[in-house]
Amino acid sequence: MKGISIVWLSETDLTNLNSGEGESNYIDVKKFKSEGMEFPYVSGQAMRYYMKEAIRRNLSEKEHMCVPDDRGETCGKIAECLNCDLFGFMRPYGGEERGGGGARIRTSPVKVSPAIGLLPFEDNSVIDFLTRRHKGEKLEGDIVNIEIGTNIYKCGLSVDVRRVGGDEGVDQKTGTMRIKYDIDADKRKERIIKILESLRLLTDYSKQARLLTDFTPDLICISFQTVYSHRLQKLFRFTEDNGKRKTLDISRFKEILRDVKEYSDSILLGQISGLLENKEQLTDAYRDVMGPSAVITEPKDVIGEATEYVRQQNLQ
Ligand SMILES: [Zn+2]
Repeated sequence: MKGISIVWLSETDLTNLNSGEGESNYIDVKKFKSEGMEFPYVSGQAMRYYMKEAIRRNLSEKEHMCVPDDRGETCGKIAECLNCDLFGFMRPYGGEERGGGGARIRTSPVKVSPAIGLLPFEDNSVIDFLTRRHKGEKLEGDIVNIEIGTNIYKCGLSVDVRRVGGDEGVDQKTGTMRIKYDIDADKRKERIIKILESLRLLTDYSKQARLLTDFTPDLICISFQTVYSHRLQKLFRFTEDNGKRKTLDISRFKEILRDVKEYSDSILLGQISGLLENKEQLTDAYRDVMGPSAVITEPKDVIGEATEYVRQQNLQ
């Protein structure tokens, strides 16, 4: 197993998951434009933060994740720290004076995509207001307008399995690149499992005191791949069907699934009801590609099965 690719959809209630630049009394939602329409998104940086915080909440007694210091630098200890191992780091060389040039860089073995809203913002949003109350003598407050919206977001994650717990370097004997591991295979597996479990625990977005939001997967696909590839990320796309927008593009789904299947040892799919207009078509399409005995379970089962699958793997 060289790569784990995950793509999921999550339907949100009214929320503002990632604010844009805005003004002091106006909190907007980050948006991008496509074909003249605006869609909300959550930046990849914010998604990484949510994921890190979800893992941090789920650490066992013996596991550790550092917190960046006042320079924004992390500890850089792959053997001890899940933060530095899974999410990478950049640490300048040198002591107090710095400026010696160069930095030790670890590329993150965990890659996340921005979360992309699949439904137009305009049709699914409202401007609400909240008041900021000053602690003065008079009870006065600023009115702050806040954009909030419902949507279905597409999110993605990819794990470069070979690089979890280790770093690539030149083998002096052979002169070739190879990975030297700082931790054993069991620990590497536990770290990969932490990533999978974090998907069920995403909660640490901004403004949750007023906008309690569930952003965990409602439809999810996980592939365990013999190559490292991001192809699965294109699996889910909506088409417009008689004005109903929550219709999954079945042709696209089958094409990508067939492609990824060629280099995957296992592919898992799970969904909850009420998300798609064409849930039954999805089941048929999945069986067409994966075989008549293939079943679509629920997202929680997919994540459970995926952690079990990782546990049984023989990582070298
Ligand atoms: Zn660290």
